[in-house]
Parts: sequence; C-alpha cells; structure tokens
Amino acid sequence: MSKPKIVVLGAGYAGLMTTKKLAKQLAPEEAELVLVNKHNYHYETTWLHEVAAGTINHNQARFMISDVVNPNRVRLIYDSVVKVNKEENKVVLENSELTYDYLVIALGFVTNTFGIKGMEENAFFIQDIDGCQLIRDHIEYKFAQYKNSEEKNDDDLTILVGGGGFTGIELVGELVEKVPQLCKKYDIDRRKARIINVEAAPSILPVFEKDLVAYAKESLERRGVEFMIGTKITECTEEGFVVGDDSELVKAGTIVWTGGVTGSPVLSESGFELNRGKVTVNGDLRAPGEDNIFILGDCAWVMNEAEGRPFPPTAQAAMQHATTCAHNIAALLHNEPLQNFIFDDKGTVASLGITDGVGTVFGGTKLTGKPAATMKKVVDNRSIFLFGGVNLLLKKGKVRPF
Ligand code: FAD
Repeated sequence: MSKPKIVVLGAGYAGLMTTKKLAKQLAPEEAELVLVNKHNYHYETTWLHEVAAGTINHNQARFMISDVVNPNRVRLIYDSVVKVNKEENKVVLENSELTYDYLVIALGFVTNTFGIKGMEENAFFIQDIDGCQLIRDHIEYKFAQYKNSEEKNDDDLTILVGGGGFTGIELVGELVEKVPQLCKKYDIDRRKARIINVEAAPSILPVFEKDLVAYAKESLERRGVEFMIGTKITECTEEGFVVGDDSELVKAGTIVWTGGVTGSPVLSESGFELNRGKVTVNGDLRAPGEDNIFILGDCAWVMNEAEGRPFPPTAQAAMQHATTCAHNIAALLHNEPLQNFIFDDKGTVASLGITDGVGTVFGGTKLTGKPAATMKKVVDNRSIFLFGGVNLLLKKGKVRPF
C-alpha cells in the first residue's frame, strides 16, 4: 500500500512549522511530505515593516527553506497555489497539479482595501518581501528626485500611511528612524519631510490598553509623526488620500495602505465557506465538513469559545496552530483522538522604532521604551531560533545595538 501523502501549502509561520514538526513526528515510511511555497525562501512577515522602511536589509528577513527543512525528507515545490479541488483531493498550482491525502492550507493573508476607491491602484501594501523592497526604493527615489529637481515639490517628501493598527504604527516607528538618514544623505532639511498616519477609528493600536496607546502616540509625535485619528479615507488618488467629510486631499510622494488584511484568495477560489475572508475552523483546526483538510494561520478564524470571538490572527498563534495540526495529522494516521487548539498567550509587543516599543507580556505586565524594544527583539529572534536553531540565529538574528 502506498504511503499517505501530506501536502502543506505555504511556508510561513504556520506552514513551515507544521512541516518541520511532521518531519520530526512521522517516520519516512509512515507518510510522504510535500511543502509548496511561492518562493524558495521563508520570510519573517512580522519584520516586513522594517524592510519597507529600509531599516533592515530584505535578506535579513528571509532564509532559504532548504536550509531548515531536509529536502530528502520533504519534497519542496516552489510554485503558486491557484486552488484546491476538494472533491478530487487535488491542488492546482500555476505550473502543475498535486494530489493529497491530507492537506494543510497555510497561505497567509492578502491586503484588504475594503473597496476604498483608488487604493488598489495607487497605494503600496505591506504584503511580501518584493512589495516592501519596492516601498523602500520608492521612498528613497522620491528623496533623490527632490534633491535633484529644479522646482522642488515638498509633497515628494511626505510619506502617508493609512491604518493605525499594528502594521501601520510599527511602520511609522521605522520611518522615524529612516527619514532622518535619508535627509542627511540627500542634504534635505528634516523639517520638510513628513510622516503622516491616518486612522478612521477613534484610536490607534486597538490591541493595547489606553495608557500604552497614549505612550505610543506621544513617543511617535515627539519624533515627528503627525496623526490624523478618527479620519476616514474615502479615496486614494495618485497624489494622496482624500479624507473626511470635506474631502480634503492630503498629498504625499509615497502612499502606503496597512488598514486591513484578509485570508488568501485561494480559499474563495476553492469554494470554502468564508467569514470575512477566512474559514472558521473547528476546534481541531479542520475546515468544517472536511476530514482531511486543516486551515491555519491568517487563513483561519479559530474561536475563543470562552469569549465568543476568534483569537486575533498573529504569528504567535500561527506557530501554535502548527503544533496542534501536526499532532492531529499524526493522530489521524495512528487512529488516535484529535486535540483541540488551546492558545497560550505569551503577550504582544509592538515596536516604535529601534529603541522604543509598547507591549503586554507574561499575562499582563506592561512594557514601554527600551524594555519593550528588547522584548520585541527576543520575540523576533525566538522565531528564527525555532526554525533554524543557533546557526540561523547567528546569521539572521537581530543584534542591532541601542
Ligand atoms: P505567512 O507567515 O504570511 O505565510 C504565508 C506563506 O504563504 C508565505 O510564505 C507566502 O509566500 C506563501 N503564499 C501565499 N500565497 C501563496 C500562493 N498562492 N502559493 C504559494 N505560496 C503562497 N504577529 C505577531 O504575533 N506579532 C507581531 O509582532 C506581528 N507583527 C506584524 C507586523 C507586520 C508588518 C505584519 C504584516 C504582520 C504582523 N503580525 C504579527 C501578524 C503575523 O505576521 C501573521 O499573523 C502571520 O504571518 C500569519 O502566519 P501565516 O503562516 O498564516 O502566514
């Protein structure tokens, strides 16, 4: 009899960790393992804002999948997933097709513009390494262009960030570090370069309590960030955001939208029932009605039954999904009972540039300033360590001095 074939789609936090755990838990004679990913590298999604601002090199935020997964144990396929054909147990890739006995869908998120007119066409997104390099290069180009043009347009030096959630705030935190460097490099008066954050809700950083939010806002404002909070973006044009009831145009040379994400479009292409772009999975992380399909990470809503709402989608949760999923696939192969996912909340820390941050850790301890920034680096380094041990940590770890 042929071995069961387990196919994992996506080599992000959830998919790569599931693959590593399955390779450890299952003997080669027990199951064939296949990992499909768009690129031959994994990138640290939680570092993308740093790549976009140019405060770290894009190569630091990625590593080769074959450096952390044994290609003799796991078949690695670098291709884009188009859709899953559940009836035939088949995955359609851009360049081929694959059959499976067990499937893990961990394809992450795509940006959601909520249909805001012109956003798709005119704004950059924090979505992957390539897109973030484009943002970095565009910002620098705008500064260089300003320096070299006869008729200077100060708007070229404005960076507009839509969305005051985690990604938007971490991005402006990095821009606060980068913009002075660019001003120095191109001999531009720092006061001419603006960083503006626009948020429709009455507050930024909804995941944190009021005192931490106030700290973050004050710290960023002190370093030159301008906030437009409670300000709705109604349109994005080539020139900037149209905001508020009086349709004011806020002009900028660089426009970035970070205001929302949704699950991979592969989910809708494959006919899964969606709730705000993601699949609400069962406690054991399987898609409803599917015995052999697990959905993890940012593609899934995993319900927090105690609070009657889903757990927030984070890298931390995605890596924990991997543990439950690998356990449950092994249990299915061994005819053992499946486990339900239990979230072990280790806390949340947001960076506000290199030396500042805010966070809540260890069940409620609040951190600000350098302790928060240090904790953030510990969290970032932990993920690298879990994927590739000390060797990878030495190559890619964050050791930026304060
Ligand atoms: P990802 O890690 O995004 O991986 C998806 C993988 O699938 C990628 O390798 C991608 O290339 C691949 N892929 C996508 N589509 C296809 C396709 N069609 N075919 C083949 N491959 C495909 N969370 C935290 O816990 N803490 C933080 O501090 C934090 N900070 C963040 C900062 C930023 C800037 C951002 C953007 C997010 C942050 N998050 C944070 C959220 C966290 O990054 C996500 O929740 C996490 O990445 C989800 O993991 P995942 O495995 O579902 O997806």
